Amino acid sequence: MSKFSVVILTLTFIGCQTNEIKIAQPKAEKIVIAHRGASGYLPEHTLPAKTMAYAMGADFLEQDIVLSKDNVPIVIHDIHLETVTDVAIQFSNRKREDNRYYVIDFTFEELKQLNVSERFDPLTNKAIYPNRFPLGKSSFKLHSLQEEIELIQGLNKSTGKNIGIYPEIKDPVFHLKEGKDISKIVLNILTKYGYKNKKDRCILQCFDANELKRIRTELKSELFLVQLMEFKEEETRLEEFSKYADGIGPWIQQIIIGKNKDGTWQISNLVSNAHQLHLKVHAYTFRADQLGDFSSFDELLNVALYEANIDGVFTDFPDKVVKFLNKN
Ligand code: CA
Repeated sequence: MSKFSVVILTLTFIGCQTNEIKIAQPKAEKIVIAHRGASGYLPEHTLPAKTMAYAMGADFLEQDIVLSKDNVPIVIHDIHLETVTDVAIQFSNRKREDNRYYVIDFTFEELKQLNVSERFDPLTNKAIYPNRFPLGKSSFKLHSLQEEIELIQGLNKSTGKNIGIYPEIKDPVFHLKEGKDISKIVLNILTKYGYKNKKDRCILQCFDANELKRIRTELKSELFLVQLMEFKEEETRLEEFSKYADGIGPWIQQIIIGKNKDGTWQISNLVSNAHQLHLKVHAYTFRADQLGDFSSFDELLNVALYEANIDGVFTDFPDKVVKFLNKN
């Protein structure tokens, strides 16, 4: 997780000789979270994308979780299938009235038959990120949360590292309407695989504040919990979040809010307010191929990690953030 550096302090005492004391000190505990894996290079949330992110030195790998019809937690970003799979070709008669194909309408066995590709717009069949992995090439499949945990824990065993998981409970209200308690199912699996408290390498995230609070209180989880945020009005609720969560996951635009005439960046007080409440701040999403007004990815990282002082980044390009942190 943290990049430990040995700081050599030289203490000089009057009348004494100079003593060198070595103190192992965490070089600020800034973490790299592979957003949907190394999704800048391989189709998001595939096992190859996770393996690549692991090899690139990410501290945590992210899993978005949606339940299948038979209650298997699937690692996929949307509750829908048609933006990353060929479901519309293989199961054309299985869409709902809104013309969308839902993960929850398919069994795990059926979902396994789908071919996964780089994210695309199903209306135009064009890739969302045209310079990333080519559409429809090679062979990628969906997988369960358990399969991904076993991959990461297997790599932890074979490499001797201890890389963490960072699962997100997706749309708990939708799941409840479908008669499913997604949080309960996911927590049971996490416990089974040894993720029980804050010392374990697992951070659980959710956008739904009611659900994350329920995970802490009613479901009695002792895991490190991160409250995801996307709206300005949520910034006034930090104190409430701090009662049950250990961190927040805001959008980067809630932190870097503009540019001054002299070229410096305007930083909101969200991070300092969160830190006062002892909340860590892991911001999303850092993409080297979507820089907005920043002249380089390193400039964006420098402003976010050192000027705004966030504690972690969700990134599609974990290698670039690892490299940045190692040289700064
Ligand atoms: Ca996510």
